[in-house]
Amino acid sequence: MRGNNPYPQGKPISATVRQCGRKWFCSVIYAVDLPEPVDNGLAVGLDRNVGQIATSTGDIIPLPDTKSLEARKKHYQKMVCRRKKGSNRRKRANQLWARTARKLANQRKDWCHQISRVLAQSASEIVIEDLNTQSMTKSAKGTVENPGKNVKQKSGLNREILRSGWGILENFLGYKAHTVTRVPAAHTSQKCSQCGHIAKENRKTQSKFECVSCGHSGNADVNAALNILASGQSTVLQDYFLRIYAILNNFGRFCRGGSAPRPLYHYALA
Ligand SMILES: [Zn+2]
Repeated sequence: MRGNNPYPQGKPISATVRQCGRKWFCSVIYAVDLPEPVDNGLAVGLDRNVGQIATSTGDIIPLPDTKSLEARKKHYQKMVCRRKKGSNRRKRANQLWARTARKLANQRKDWCHQISRVLAQSASEIVIEDLNTQSMTKSAKGTVENPGKNVKQKSGLNREILRSGWGILENFLGYKAHTVTRVPAAHTSQKCSQCGHIAKENRKTQSKFECVSCGHSGNADVNAALNILASGQSTVLQDYFLRIYAILNNFGRFCRGGSAPRPLYHYALA
């Protein structure tokens, strides 16, 4: 058996035992006093994109690289399909598949936990696009009478959106951050963050932004994050401290990738 009680003073409320593949897990819920969310008057805009997150401070945080795990999951899935129903071999393949799926889910969740903690500790207000993940990931297939368009492309995008774990991140931010502000997602990627000019031509490529009106250029996702921040606030704070704090403490680690995560926070119980 592994694991310990991180909250010795907390009062246990409930315990849940579940089986996942060949392993058994028990999670215990403790009643603890949450630390007050950081309230430093700073705000940060977030642009959630396929494969990465951009902040209004100019940081690009890539999602964890799960390609090999996903390939392995697919491999085991095929293995399950090949094997005879009800056989022991199929059962074994199913266990392998479930184990890989669990690992993938854990990786994404861990990443979301760490990123949301960093963000919640750097700024009191997090401004995000109001994306309805559920409707965005709906199938594009349509019906027989009214077939959908771009089915193949959409299904690829669906996978990417789900993989980004946007919904999970939003969830975590909701209880970790002081305030989460949702703003309409319209035009955030086409609008110039400097002069406000909106044009399709502003976005040269997927990553490059160049305003046709004022000539401002930069990373397209960072530009979008700045727009999101601006629409979430009446006054945009120039938070250089936030940027320095973020780089020194945590973001660099995610940008480099690969290094083992250090524990980010502890709840000190009085
Ligand atoms: Zn401009």
